Amino acid sequence: MKIPFSPPYIDQSVVNEVVDTLKTNWITTGPKVIAMEQEVVKLTSTKAAICVNSWTSGAILMLKWFGVQAGDEVIIPAYTYCATALSVLHCGATPVMVDITTDFCIDTEAVRKAITSKTKVIIAVDIAGWPCDYSKLTEIINKREIKKLFRAESLKQAILNRILLIADAAHSLGAKTNGHAAALESDVTIFSFHAVKNVTTAEGGCICLNLPGNFDIEAEYKYLKMYTLNGQNKNAFEKSNGGGWRYDILFQGLKINMPDICAAIGLAQIRKYETLLLPSRKTIAFKYQKRFKEFEEFELPPLFEHGHESSYHIYPLRIKNITEQQRDWIIDEITSKQIAVNVHFIPLPMLTYFKRLGYKIEDFPMAYDQYSREISLPIYPQLSDTKIEYIVRAVIDAVEKILNKKIGKLETTEVVVF
Ligand SMILES: *Cc1c(COP(=O)(O)O)cnc(C)c1O
Repeated sequence: MKIPFSPPYIDQSVVNEVVDTLKTNWITTGPKVIAMEQEVVKLTSTKAAICVNSWTSGAILMLKWFGVQAGDEVIIPAYTYCATALSVLHCGATPVMVDITTDFCIDTEAVRKAITSKTKVIIAVDIAGWPCDYSKLTEIINKREIKKLFRAESLKQAILNRILLIADAAHSLGAKTNGHAAALESDVTIFSFHAVKNVTTAEGGCICLNLPGNFDIEAEYKYLKMYTLNGQNKNAFEKSNGGGWRYDILFQGLKINMPDICAAIGLAQIRKYETLLLPSRKTIAFKYQKRFKEFEEFELPPLFEHGHESSYHIYPLRIKNITEQQRDWIIDEITSKQIAVNVHFIPLPMLTYFKRLGYKIEDFPMAYDQYSREISLPIYPQLSDTKIEYIVRAVIDAVEKILNKKIGKLETTEVVVF
């Protein structure tokens, strides 16, 4: 049985939506992108959504929008995908990495200690779809002594007058905090629609604005849409409507718009996200949870607790008390059964480029510990019960082989208190 890690969800409705786009003869940014943005707003209840061609370009855009530049610092976790740090470097600013906690989230206490007068933005990352503690981060950036440190050096910074809180929600479309979309917990939330994510547009991303009331959201939406189109005051769709040939360039924008042909793929998916795609991910995650819970050797991921609910993007299983080498051997065993697994993530300080920049993994012991014991298992709607059981068996067998022992079922013993 061959089990891929994360194939895209392509059903007849996706095919139909794409064919519809082709037949209308309008394939770049137009009505499908607008419809996609409306679906994201509906799902998140945020104030506005702007589709772009990737999470990465969306992050660069929002950092530039806020005026982040050389000399500024942006606090990020060491445990994330490279794009979180690269978006900061692309703006000329310095990523200040901090460690994580056992739930894979950025360590809020470490964030507080890392804040300086140069800090402009914090980017927290919802690893595996598990939302970070944004209320704690919001509390920190609103503390009087932290606000006093903040130096506003751009128009947007002056309006906000504090550190900007961005959620790297590449994994967490549909995640919840206290029963509402987790996207309502930060100033800006950026989703990825890359091919492996819960909803995909092949390549793509979406920025959700949840900025405080003193921002004119409609104006910011218009400005950001222009920013994605070279700072041009009219998009191609508007220009194509007869007589609209004249345009102007108002500022130095980027060229990062999402084409309609891509939006069509995601549109068909997001329409059935809450009724079909997300619930089936949840079901699979809890099937894994139920099986692995029986064994002492496994450390289960947080899925639905303390007021947070995951988007079940990744199932990050950890194995207790193993080395990185043993983890790699376990992966080799699982892979030999034709099951594709993954590791989320190799901490940035372990990657050549970041090492060269001077980041050291020794400074992030928790990131290293989580990484060294983590294996991400396949999780997607097309996964049948038979396949799930095949994966679970393969994981247990691999762990037993590498640890060279039978792994025991947990005894549920009553604790007697005298
Ligand atoms: C996938 C991913 C990104 C990058 O998304 P793109 O759309 O490929 O740019 C950023 N952060 C995290 C945590 C991711 O997993």
